[in-house]
Amino acid sequence: YRRMLGKLKGEPAITADGVPIRLLANVELPDDSADAAEVGADGIGLYRTEFLYMNREDMPSEEEQLAAYRRVLRSVDGPVTIRTLDLGADKTLGQGRDPAQSTNPALGLRAIRLCLKETDMFRVQLRALLRASAEGDVRVMLPMISNTQELKQTRHLIGETMNQLRAEGHAFNSALPVGAMIEVPAAALSAPLLARHADFFSLGTNDLIQYTLAMDRVDDEINYLYDPLHPAVLRLIKLTIEAGEQAPIPVSMCGEMASDRRYTRLLLGLGLTEFSMHPASILEVKQLIMQSNVAALREQVDAMLACGDADEFREHLDALDEPAP
Ligand code: PEP
Ligand code: MG
Repeated sequence: YRRMLGKLKGEPAITADGVPIRLLANVELPDDSADAAEVGADGIGLYRTEFLYMNREDMPSEEEQLAAYRRVLRSVDGPVTIRTLDLGADKTLGQGRDPAQSTNPALGLRAIRLCLKETDMFRVQLRALLRASAEGDVRVMLPMISNTQELKQTRHLIGETMNQLRAEGHAFNSALPVGAMIEVPAAALSAPLLARHADFFSLGTNDLIQYTLAMDRVDDEINYLYDPLHPAVLRLIKLTIEAGEQAPIPVSMCGEMASDRRYTRLLLGLGLTEFSMHPASILEVKQLIMQSNVAALREQVDAMLACGDADEFREHLDALDEPAP
């Protein structure tokens, strides 16, 4: 079985009816990108930069960040989507160093909110990202976007940083793509409006499910509520994909749902064409994609969206598991 998956490495991820799908990797440390290259990922769909900041006493300098981004750029072919610092809630600095002491961290000053408040810290990361963009296909992805203002403000900061770098004689990509993670229900519901200010979307289903279903993703007592097939979650995913098609801007998914083979056909049927996941899942998901017929799945999944609840949906989903004729 492993040998068979190994053979898939060099094969393009194209569905049985000829739809090309991009399979990207999620990485947490620069060294993880070697695993992504190993399985033939089409690029990096999510580089979680908070790991550069965690488990240490100081903040990473511009040069240190630039070196990390360069390492990732050099080790994979294809785009490298670097997510700006997503600190707060389940990702903390520890040792009493966390800037926000909210009563409800998941709803507090985290991710893009924190970066737009602590702009001195954010500017260091933006400088490093921009300088890295001179050396490869860097894309910047913003976590926890919940309104257009945050996108506009970040773009403004990026513009200012570009002017500064230009004056200093540093090279950068002046057309650096800037995308929004869709992981807050408000973002999914207003996706057509956000799309006017974003170059791409990436669905963060881990948080999208947490916020949609009002269930703390790290609370074991209520983890039975975590259900990617909840009709509300599926509707938000569909809205986001449709907004991307309309705009048009690319939509990918980088939450755990994208790496779970149980949902691959469903996501193809919802119109998803870019998946980003842990490198270890890429070949298994690719195998399923190559056996799938997107045109048929789109019809089947469309009809399934009328299901009354997740259990009913799950039954239909099991029936989808027949390989395409
Ligand atoms: C997500 O929320 O789905 C996501 C990919 O980001 P993280 O798990 O790092 O919050
Ligand atoms: Mg998230």
